[in-house]
Amino acid sequence: MTTNEQTAQPSPTKCWCCDKEYDERELVRLGAHPEVGICLACALDVQQRAGEREDELRPTATTRLRTGVRRSREWVIARDWHNRPVLGPLLRRINRHLP
Ligand SMILES: [Zn+2]
Repeated sequence: MTTNEQTAQPSPTKCWCCDKEYDERELVRLGAHPEVGICLACALDVQQRAGEREDELRPTATTRLRTGVRRSREWVIARDWHNRPVLGPLLRRINRHLP
């Protein structure tokens, strides 16, 4: 197989986090373990969880504020308010500006 054939037809591979299939272009590989690939959505989720863990390990006034925002976000999502017709777009717009 030539290089052109390899780049034109990426083979589907599975995300090691959600187990769904993606093209190679849609996966992020781990540095020391390139056999491990995670999709972009899972990579963003891992990044968010890493931020939460970092805030838990080093509590300050700012991290407590971010924790409060996260808890509020989870509370809204648990009630499905972000999917309501009028309130949802407003909440999502506000969310874009929150930490
Ligand atoms: Zn995934």
